[in-house]
Amino acid sequence: MAYAQSVLAVYVAAGLCFGRDGQRLRPHFVRYRGKTGDMAGPDLPLCDFGAQDGGWAKGTAFAENPAAVAFRALIGISLPEMDRGPLMSGQWQPGGLATAWHADPPAPGDFVFSYAVSPTTPAPADIDHAAALIGALLDVVELLDEDEVIVPGWIAQGAEKRDLPAPHPAAPPEIGARTDGKAGSGHRQPLHSVVGAQPSIVALARHWSLVAGAIADGSGLPAPITGFRLRRTADWQVPSTGDPAEVYEHLGRVCNVSCKFCYLFGNPGNLAIARGTRVIRQDEVETRLRYFLADTGQALFHAEWENNETLVDPKLPQLLPRLREASDKPFFFVTNGNPLTPAMLDLLASVKPVHVIVSINSANPELRADVMRESKTRRARALEGLYGLDDRGISFGISLAAFPEFPIDDLQATIEHVATLRAAYVRINLPGYTRYLPPEHPFDTPSTWARVTEWARALRAHVRLPILVIPSAFEENLYHDDPVAARVIGTIPNSPADRAGLRPGDVIERIGLLPVTSRASAQALLSLDRGDARLTVRRGAAVHTLCLDATAGAFPYVGESYGKYRFPKGMVLAPSLSDADIRQVCDQIDDYGAKNAWVFTSRLMMPAVRRLLAPYDLWDRVRLVPVDNHYLGGNIQVLDMATIGDMTRHVEAETTAAARPDLLLSPGTGFNREGRDLLGRHWKDLPNHFDIPCELMSCSRFTF
Ligand code: SF4
Repeated sequence: MAYAQSVLAVYVAAGLCFGRDGQRLRPHFVRYRGKTGDMAGPDLPLCDFGAQDGGWAKGTAFAENPAAVAFRALIGISLPEMDRGPLMSGQWQPGGLATAWHADPPAPGDFVFSYAVSPTTPAPADIDHAAALIGALLDVVELLDEDEVIVPGWIAQGAEKRDLPAPHPAAPPEIGARTDGKAGSGHRQPLHSVVGAQPSIVALARHWSLVAGAIADGSGLPAPITGFRLRRTADWQVPSTGDPAEVYEHLGRVCNVSCKFCYLFGNPGNLAIARGTRVIRQDEVETRLRYFLADTGQALFHAEWENNETLVDPKLPQLLPRLREASDKPFFFVTNGNPLTPAMLDLLASVKPVHVIVSINSANPELRADVMRESKTRRARALEGLYGLDDRGISFGISLAAFPEFPIDDLQATIEHVATLRAAYVRINLPGYTRYLPPEHPFDTPSTWARVTEWARALRAHVRLPILVIPSAFEENLYHDDPVAARVIGTIPNSPADRAGLRPGDVIERIGLLPVTSRASAQALLSLDRGDARLTVRRGAAVHTLCLDATAGAFPYVGESYGKYRFPKGMVLAPSLSDADIRQVCDQIDDYGAKNAWVFTSRLMMPAVRRLLAPYDLWDRVRLVPVDNHYLGGNIQVLDMATIGDMTRHVEAETTAAARPDLLLSPGTGFNREGRDLLGRHWKDLPNHFDIPCELMSCSRFTF
């Protein structure tokens, strides 16, 4: 932020920036874009224009070349690299001017975070340099005049004028390859790992590409710059939730099987998540561990890599005990099961609380080996590993992919097998695919999903395990009139909900004296209630009262948390929208006085949104817009995997002069913690592009 502040301050003070209306801009503050206003951090001062406009209003020359000031800010936090190493001292010498630097040696021990650079050729003229740099920084920060956000449209220097870059919201940032590990620059991290997670590093890369062509070494000889490195690791510590996954998730960069349906193979090449080709280096893990301070809520900057099979990284055994000392939060792993050797099981048992989802897919060894392309030894270990989890009292759930490769008879045999073990639940993934990896055996999505769902519903009657079918909205919409009712999918064996006698299909109508209006409200009330609770439950035509003792419970019930799932008191309910979520929609419409607000949703979740919005009688002011996922294609429907480009397509296609939206409302769950979509584009690029106000709504994942 200090870097962006220094660079923009000098350009703003030089009076270069103009609004789309042609007015010269005078922003006083700069603020990190963040995801929402309260997460954006403090406003930092840009420059004090004083009571008078002073010299800047006439566009007079700044006392020093702004590009040189910007370069000093750049060199303050990063260093250029040639193929053979960093350039610790040198000079930037565009047009005969030279700005020299000399850097101290790096602190020993820290991993060097380094990224590739492609020099811009030919070197841009001053005003083009300024436009490109300001454009890059305005992807990371926004300018403010007091509380109002100012969006510059162009810059001018003397008689010359340049539009600021404003890529279409569907356009991916141009940042090179997504994979690591190319020979010669193998130590470099792909920018895809930070474009959504730490976009300021991408701004640094853009700045380096502008200046790289004019870098010389200490003796003035041209230095071919191929990359840059972060100068001091400590500069890149960020607020942390204290979740140890922020460290160990980096160990999941490779997998030891190759499932025919692997969702990772279906990822587009420009996804804002890097692809690893080898395990993480020891010194990177050590550095991340050193800067992970759960007590004070700090960690090294986030980076996003495809999450493969964490349990295969040989560094895990020495890492987990050290992380357990640093944090008592649960560890959560998704594994294909074959790394569950006795030694691994003992390790996991020694660092509880741990929850593991085992993607067992099939208990038939031949079938599993064929579809997951797995060796004989490994498939045997995966199936034996389930017994090991059970023996050691390690909490686990089972995951099955209902692709046609696994016939229903096989899924049933697998579930009946795991039901003899103390798994907490079974999760059946309805088969999903993107346009980049169509299924090997094509199927019709609605009929296949309906067939699997119907079978799973029947199975719940005679298997004690709760069986989730995801995305769960498909079942809730297909089989029930009320898509948000607090309908029980099942209960964790030995949980308070199980012992109270709740059954699949029961609908919870009251908890104590409080009416339950949605699954979300049932989950919230059950989470809050620490003592006994009386549940009023509708079972078919009958109404029952059940007593739930919050203190009753034994393994596999381990409390509310099961990895990414929350099952309060062991009650398994599908996620749903809440009344509070919908009230946000109404409040925003009122606050903006909107006459034609568009609410983005998905075809899957739209019945629930419609049902909860109905009592507010806003249909003359609000329109639900189900967003088609053009980016991923295939049969992907959930809005949390759509991009702002997908939303943009709808606004472009469906806006008419008579029906232009005056407010756009989007759930925030499709954007990462920085407010970025799957391409790394910030959600505010949507309102900026259309000049229509837009707000993000907070809600649970997979509910819109
Ligand atoms: S186990 Fe998971 S990550 Fe590995 S190939 Fe299969 S689906 Fe992909």
